[in-house]
Amino acid sequence: RTLVYQARAAATACNYTGAGLRGLTTARLLINGEFKESQTDTWIDVTNPATQEVVSRCPETTPAEFQAAVQAAKDAFPAWRRTPLPMRQRVMFKLQQLIRSNMSELAASVTLEQGKTLLDARGDVFRGLEVVEYACGLAPDLRGDYIEHVSAGMDTYSFRQPLGVCAGICPFNFPAMIPLWMFPLAVTAGNTFVLKPSEKDPGAAVMLAELAMQAGLPKGVLSVVHGARPAVTAILDHPDIRAVSFVGSDQAGRFIYERGCANGKRVQANMGAKNHAVVLPDAHREATVAALTGAAFGAAGQRCMAISAAVFVGGVAPWRDALVRKAKSLKVGNGADKDTDVGPLISPEAVERAVRLITEGIHQGAECALDGRGAVVPGHENGNWLGPTLLANVTMDMDVWREEIFAPVLVCLEADSLDVALEIVNSNTHGNGTAIFTRSGPAARKFQDEVQVGMVGINVPIPVPLPFFSFTGWRGSFHGDLHMYGKAGLDFYTQPKTVTTNWRDLDDQAGNRTPELDA
Ligand code: NAD
Repeated sequence: RTLVYQARAAATACNYTGAGLRGLTTARLLINGEFKESQTDTWIDVTNPATQEVVSRCPETTPAEFQAAVQAAKDAFPAWRRTPLPMRQRVMFKLQQLIRSNMSELAASVTLEQGKTLLDARGDVFRGLEVVEYACGLAPDLRGDYIEHVSAGMDTYSFRQPLGVCAGICPFNFPAMIPLWMFPLAVTAGNTFVLKPSEKDPGAAVMLAELAMQAGLPKGVLSVVHGARPAVTAILDHPDIRAVSFVGSDQAGRFIYERGCANGKRVQANMGAKNHAVVLPDAHREATVAALTGAAFGAAGQRCMAISAAVFVGGVAPWRDALVRKAKSLKVGNGADKDTDVGPLISPEAVERAVRLITEGIHQGAECALDGRGAVVPGHENGNWLGPTLLANVTMDMDVWREEIFAPVLVCLEADSLDVALEIVNSNTHGNGTAIFTRSGPAARKFQDEVQVGMVGINVPIPVPLPFFSFTGWRGSFHGDLHMYGKAGLDFYTQPKTVTTNWRDLDDQAGNRTPELDA
């Protein structure tokens, strides 16, 4: 309870709150350097998933407000792109310091609106902070190429320029990290940016925007708009937006990629996942069980890099009891409570869908080794609870294997060999992350070579690359060419320009000669 008030107080301090409807806080728009209450008549409730209490309201940005946000970004671009790069980097230095000093307030907002534990919420902020740190030292990755003497007196060089107005569309599950995957890199590269947080938990993004303004971003360089599909469609159809970064579900991602590309924009779309762990019989017992439970049930399975399927080479039997014991030891509860391991799902609909998929899986022949359906948290009877759930005997014809459940559910499959395990992993439509647990170097090497997944862990359950690499999901988990953050992210937000110069001294007979013709 105390924490809710603290989070609200923190939100107030960070300009998140306004007069609000019925005394509630509202997520404000950021347009031309000012945080404004939307004039919309369409509001979306933001609820605390542990209680169903409405904690805030998110506006569906009006067309006029949206246009003003993009116009401000367009107007700010010419001066911002000419602002010396070290000065743009200095804003990021200041931002990283402000994020550090507001870490607790940001984390409290994440827990309040998204539900994850405070520890996970700090991780959410921290993983985004690391991208800000990368942006502080962007210059080396922006260096261009130069070749002299491509012809007599002629040189060619190539450098990267920002695109203009870029936009970002964010999911609910990492309300701080994903906005930070996007705008720090885009603006440090010289772009201006229109951010649309998830309408389910917009608080942290608004607080981050406030901190970015405090850090010294000029007005218009960052705008924040809010809403659901209408706001997304407005982004996709606006002719002045050059590039769109999206993170979220398959369904929204396919629509956004297709419509954005059809409108001539660059689009990078990170989508859903079904991340497999492959467990070989020689894997370290305790470490592997701990890694699997943490990666499957931590953050209530609502991570795009969560392990949601495990393939046991040689069978699940030797692992099953230890896994069930460890999963049972996890405490389900309010993320704001210190001893909680597994928080709520984002909405009652998310619980309903997960329960439906689990139930269908059992009807199709899966064995429920641990059943989290019907979990109750005393004192929080209205929360969106699903306890850790372990399904054994899962096969590739079941929806629980085919579909992303996005909940604390681990489906267990069996394979006779590493080759069969690889076939299972490579047959799923998603290709975000995967991990192998083994003590065999040759097996790990074969796995990393043959697996058709973009991020691979070897005895590492959640192999999210640090920001000097990029987030490289494959196949159904990604649409586009240039991945998010790191060098690829920078390439996404910039375009190369190649210049050929002729500075031959035309009055100098010797200099006028072309050596190849003389030869
Ligand atoms: P979501 O697709 O429902 O929402 C994401 C964004 O898209 C939101 O801003 C929302 O307003 C918008 N949106 C939703 N439906 C839309 C529609 N029909 N048309 C246009 N816009 C729409 O996703 P979510 O539930 O917020 O997030 C969970 C999903 O995100 C999971 O599938 C998860 O795997 C995925 N995810 C992927 C990554 C990754 O990097 N691959 C990272 C985090 C989350």
